[in-house]
Amino acid sequence: MQAATAYAPADAPPPAGGLQSDRQATFTRHALRNVRIISYSYLIDGLVLSLFALAGTVPWVPVAAYTVMGLLIGTFWTVVFQNGWTLGAKDPHMPMTMSLPHQVLQLAGMALMPKLSFMFLLILFIVFTALAMRVAPRRAVAACAAICVGAGLVLAMGGTTVRIPDANIVEQVLSWAFVSLTLWQCIWIGLFNGAMTATLKRRSRELAALTRKVQHLAHHDELTGLLNRRSLLAILAGEQQHADRTGQALTVALFDLDHFKAINDTLGHPAGDRTLKRFASTVKQLARTTDRFGRYGGEEFLLVLAGTPPGDARVPVERFREALRARGWDDVALDLQVTFSCGLAGHLPGESTEDLLRRADAALYRAKHDGRDCTRTG
Ligand code: GH3
Ligand code: MG
Ligand code: MG
Repeated sequence: MQAATAYAPADAPPPAGGLQSDRQATFTRHALRNVRIISYSYLIDGLVLSLFALAGTVPWVPVAAYTVMGLLIGTFWTVVFQNGWTLGAKDPHMPMTMSLPHQVLQLAGMALMPKLSFMFLLILFIVFTALAMRVAPRRAVAACAAICVGAGLVLAMGGTTVRIPDANIVEQVLSWAFVSLTLWQCIWIGLFNGAMTATLKRRSRELAALTRKVQHLAHHDELTGLLNRRSLLAILAGEQQHADRTGQALTVALFDLDHFKAINDTLGHPAGDRTLKRFASTVKQLARTTDRFGRYGGEEFLLVLAGTPPGDARVPVERFREALRARGWDDVALDLQVTFSCGLAGHLPGESTEDLLRRADAALYRAKHDGRDCTRTG
């Protein structure tokens, strides 16, 4: 049982549909590949053992018994995995349940062919190197301790010491070949481990990027990239508390695009979306970095001006109006003119967020009532 496990990194994440069955299929594919590799290993070991039998180092019967048992264990797991069973195994690469019979078989090999104990110990070495990378440390340590005791008992009962067969040139070559094979396996395990680590690093980078994206989406509006309503309300509540503590002025400006529905109706929704983006980017560019600007809802936007009384807040609002007028909207649609109405409200000591916004909304309503394209203060 030379190659103890296949350390293939998991495949790309499955599509959203049929996630469970996709996971099961991936598990089965990896598990079956692993079983296949282990079975090939038994064939190689069987071949080396046969050559030792030919050289007269060990009898044929235990060689055949060991190889057949190894292949039978492989057949058993093939049937298990092909039927979609896992027998409690969570890892398709080297579950403990799958590894145990192999470990016991190496002890049996030592007992039946004590002259080749070194070979089975080397196999156990590979098995545990592989196992330690896949199972929980406590289980790996427990299994290793049990097998160490078992190996000690087998050696003691056989009354033999571990030595590398070297009685003749054939034994020397075969022993050398087997040790070399083991060294290659160590390299192989190391390379797969490296590939696994690289995959994990890539996955964690992807996860971090995804988390950043989700966090951004949770706080920002997808269309305009501005702060969303939830963030605006949280920021506003914080600014109100600050204003109450420090006595500083605080003003909110509620913007509503005029006759926006008509833009959608005559030019279509995409043009409406472009209008919203243009309005958002223009105001964002012109607003102070300390002012917090976001999309309050559909075609309504909110600007939180900390440290600014409503009278002063009119200045930037009119600057936005002028800038939007001066730049024109031809890039959205030819001859389009977009204006906005604005309601301002200054925070009153101890006032709730709802009340402050209600007053801003009432001022906005008056601006609409007074003919639109103007600002009113609540
Ligand atoms: P008023 O001057 O009184 O504000 O009139 P209005 O047409 O702007 O007001 P109304 O509230 O009737 O229309 C707002 C429109 O905004 C209706 C809605 O379909 C549109 N809207 C809301 N969100 C979006 C969006 O994300 N994209 C687009 N294209 N339209 C949106
Ligand atoms: Mg509106
Ligand atoms: Mg409107």
